[in-house]
Amino acid sequence: MNYIVLDLEWNQCPYGKKKEDPRLPFEIIEIGAVKLDASFQEVGTFHETIRPVLYRRLHYMTRSVIHMTEEDFQGKRTFPHVFADFLVWCGDAPVFCTWGPGDLTELQRNVRWHIEHGNLTGRWPFPFPFFYRDVQKIFSYSHEDGKMRRSLEWAVEYLQIEKTEEFHDAFSDARYTARILQLLNPEDVRKYTSIDTYHTPSKRSEEILVRYDNYTKYISKSFPKRESVMKDRVIISTRCLICDQKIRRTIRWFSDNGRNYLCIAQCPEHGLFRSKIRMRQNADNEWYVVKTTRAASPSDVDAVKNKLETLRQRRRMHRMN
Ligand SMILES: [Zn+2]
Repeated sequence: MNYIVLDLEWNQCPYGKKKEDPRLPFEIIEIGAVKLDASFQEVGTFHETIRPVLYRRLHYMTRSVIHMTEEDFQGKRTFPHVFADFLVWCGDAPVFCTWGPGDLTELQRNVRWHIEHGNLTGRWPFPFPFFYRDVQKIFSYSHEDGKMRRSLEWAVEYLQIEKTEEFHDAFSDARYTARILQLLNPEDVRKYTSIDTYHTPSKRSEEILVRYDNYTKYISKSFPKRESVMKDRVIISTRCLICDQKIRRTIRWFSDNGRNYLCIAQCPEHGLFRSKIRMRQNADNEWYVVKTTRAASPSDVDAVKNKLETLRQRRRMHRMN
């Protein structure tokens, strides 16, 4: 098993959003990757500049961030060729590692676009469910609160890694990310998995449930209509983290912003749990949810109660005006 630490650079429509292809807003122009073995030793590298075929001129932002011009792409290979070689280089069952979730989304969008345009053939090259490691997230779990997200450069400085190369070059960013990964606790890297949601479950039997140390994460199938989501019995059900029994909600699902929902549920044997639903849209604009459940301390329950109370007061005020 290899870890493939990946970083991409992409270009966007130089003539503005109105003229872009909505199926491919970001066209990959560089792949940089470092291969680490199971004990995080570097065993290979991959680096190639890619000649864009959709947006052949560089967007001014791209130009300023990556320090490249159109001439740098002359004679380079296009995405389908580079990607095919990249996949072979990755080897069997690679574990992708990226700084934040964005790169894998764009990689899959590029693959899908080239499949749709007949430039790439063969089966979909990524697994389902697609587990990966978000190094930015693991860094936060290891060194901060698990919620904060830092820039790559910030983490490099924090870990006192020598800054030998420029940032915003796919290969040097992959190198820095690999260096950070090597300095993280291997146990954290093993257990803090992320699940890519470019493809979401298409039916109930594909739904994903993962148990982490102190919480569970559930990813639902998708629904064409948003209104159907919070009516689905499986989605709104609450289960005990310990005995897995369905448990009764003591504070019913409520939402403060229409996207996130909260509730408190109680197992007669194992106490109180807090569930959170985040409503999301997938690549086909269908609605699905990510539901997390964790044990709730008395102060967690108070926080949820306060939120609900504030919301009720706001509504009352609204009605009075
Ligand atoms: Zn229980």
